[in-house]
Amino acid sequence: MRPRVIVNVAMSADGKISTVERRQVKISGPEDFARVDALKAESDAIMVGIGTVLADDPSLTVKSETNRHARTARQKPENPVRVIVDSKGRIPLTAAVLHKGEGLRIVAVSGTAPRDKVNELEKVSTVIVAGEENVDLVSLLGQLYTMGIRQLMVEGGGTLIAGLFAQGLVDEFYTFIGNSIISGKDAPTPADGPGFSVARGFPRLVLAGATQIGDGVLLHWKA
Ligand code: NAP
Repeated sequence: MRPRVIVNVAMSADGKISTVERRQVKISGPEDFARVDALKAESDAIMVGIGTVLADDPSLTVKSETNRHARTARQKPENPVRVIVDSKGRIPLTAAVLHKGEGLRIVAVSGTAPRDKVNELEKVSTVIVAGEENVDLVSLLGQLYTMGIRQLMVEGGGTLIAGLFAQGLVDEFYTFIGNSIISGKDAPTPADGPGFSVARGFPRLVLAGATQIGDGVLLHWKA
């Protein structure tokens, strides 16, 4: 058993999720920001890859006070459980996600994470070991389900999202497409990683909705 996995990503009109320097860029506007915050607030957990933590240092907290109050009214912490997929335990101990806002943090590591760093991380988070080399996403999702997590939102980046697609672990995929052109052949896209081939076949999705939001469009795909 595993949680329902909902991936949300914002990309430019030319399909980039950040710049070649991996700098975080504003792609969507306030209306889409509110939708993403609400999705986060209704989820039991939110997950990102270590690449996103190192590039953006996000806190992954629920931003709207109304959404936070709605959670506490349901006897839940203000923020969903925050999960970082980080095989080697590279997350800085000063990372915002480990300190800002209340609620449980989980750092998911593999057997390659140095014991000393795991000991340090255990002082500020719950550490889950899943897999030998990279984090085994099937094992991780199984452990999250056992902990009571039923809806898991994934906010990126492209490497983690590709890893989830590769294992058939994505149930819903929201892509907000903004009106900028970021360009750069090495700029991250929503599903980076080694890529799928014609021989292997491509994951196919069903379009569940297409809505204009501000200057962009939100596509809602289902697996
Ligand atoms: P990422 O997807 O956040 O993290 C990837 C890392 O996760 C891997 O390099 C790997 O590092 C770790 N990992 C462990 N097990 C894995 C597995 N089974 N499958 C996949 N990954 C696994 O990093 P990224 O691709 O570099 O993306 C970061 C970029 O995305 C940044 O530029 C950020 O600004 C951008 N971003 C954009 C949005 C948006 O919506 N526009 C949202 C989020 C991020 P280890 O081997 O060390 O474990």
